[in-house]
Amino acid sequence: MEMLLKFECPECGKTFIVEDLEVDGSELSCPHCQEEVPVPECDDDEEE
Ligand SMILES: [Zn+2]
Repeated sequence: MEMLLKFECPECGKTFIVEDLEVDGSELSCPHCQEEVPVPECDDDEEE
């Protein structure tokens, strides 16, 4: 099941949506300015 995550880029201030499958690790790149955007932790995966 895919989940869409909405982010706001702290660099350019634009928002963008990615599928959670695209989020690999703790950062992703803003499609607008290519800056790395920190990914907030997901609460639905608590395996550690
Ligand atoms: Zn940006």
